[in-house]
Amino acid sequence: MSSRAVIPSLATLRAAWRLAWNGDPLESDLPMQGEHRVARSRVIVVGTLTLLSLIVVSQDPGNTGYRRAVPVNLVCLALALVVLVATRRGTRPTWISVLTSIGDVSMVSLLHVAELLQTTPSAAVNGRITFAGYFFALIGTCVRWDPRLPLVAGAVAGAQYALIAAAGAAMWPSTPTPDVLAYGGFDWGVQIERVVTLVLFSVSCAGIARWSVQLRASSTHDALTGLLNRGTFEGHLHNEWLLAMRRGAPLSLAIIDLDEFKQVNDRWGHAAGDTVLREVAAILRRDVRRSDLVARWGGEEFMVALPGASLPDAADLVEELRTRIADTPVTLSGGRDVRVSLSAGVAVWPVDGATAQEVIACADERLLIAKRAGRNRVVTAVPTAAAV
Ligand code: GH3
Ligand code: MG
Ligand code: MG
Repeated sequence: MSSRAVIPSLATLRAAWRLAWNGDPLESDLPMQGEHRVARSRVIVVGTLTLLSLIVVSQDPGNTGYRRAVPVNLVCLALALVVLVATRRGTRPTWISVLTSIGDVSMVSLLHVAELLQTTPSAAVNGRITFAGYFFALIGTCVRWDPRLPLVAGAVAGAQYALIAAAGAAMWPSTPTPDVLAYGGFDWGVQIERVVTLVLFSVSCAGIARWSVQLRASSTHDALTGLLNRGTFEGHLHNEWLLAMRRGAPLSLAIIDLDEFKQVNDRWGHAAGDTVLREVAAILRRDVRRSDLVARWGGEEFMVALPGASLPDAADLVEELRTRIADTPVTLSGGRDVRVSLSAGVAVWPVDGATAQEVIACADERLLIAKRAGRNRVVTAVPTAAAV
């Protein structure tokens, strides 16, 4: 093997670092993007602390406190870089955020423990700078799109700090040492206040995280059916199209329109129509893969994007959806059963259009053909047995 293949070039390293630092929004979900943002802040904070300790040691080699801090900071920086690289793309498993949230507050607790080990218990339990680190760590949990994380991190921070306070009380000097004179005496009232503040702060963070999740859901999803709304779908579809080009994989789209839906409203009322729309949406969402996109495109129209699916595969899937919806009666509030059918047009990138918009236009034309041919059918370029 040549040395060129073994030693990466500067350009390769630069590209790898850029990917690690910026992340890949095309290939990561929103929670992972939040995790990656926190990972960047962590690298900046730990990197700055490491640099500071190196500067102090280079200026004052006899400073044992900082000399001990250098290897600890370097290990923390290495861990922060590992998390940065690990979160650059992908779907975030919850355990990663549980681990990093607990890791961040534990790092602050370790700094307190380091102060205890340097036999400066008053700095550990009365100092304000290190304690403020808990608030930085807890704020980071707000952007991870899960209100449980601030609560978990807050509980861990409160418990760890309570142990640190107890250890500080146990090793408190009988005669005032310089750090006691500088930072003050031991007061259980103050320590309990600190623990309660941490817990209350984490509850506020959980409230912010919950509110953010709700706000986002209401701006990105359709209120009646809970499916993606059109604007959000178009944004995701653009990303899927870029990914399809990058991977050279097909991207199929289906426009689905309920047949003679106006009659459902006219006959049973709008509330009944709403119930039918909700049921149809639930079937569509349930019967496609999690990675597929389902949106409410307009009144009684839905759009499904199937990344990686060829036209015959997409046609088979939409045909299955058609028969399932036709065979599933929707029970209205009065106990009456209603059945609806659908027509659909299916098209695929890159065969039926060079862009996602062109593929949508092609699928729309095929939907019109399905309607004109008598409704309750799926039209594609490749006729399937069920659609003929
Ligand atoms: P076609 O088979 O040609 O598609 O006939 P259609 O009756 O389904 O189509 P048309 O466009 O004539 O009517 C669509 C109906 O969908 C009319 C409208 O009242 C109804 N609709 C649209 N949005 C909603 C909604 O949110 N709730 C309810 N209940 N009805 C809706
Ligand atoms: Mg319509
Ligand atoms: Mg219709």
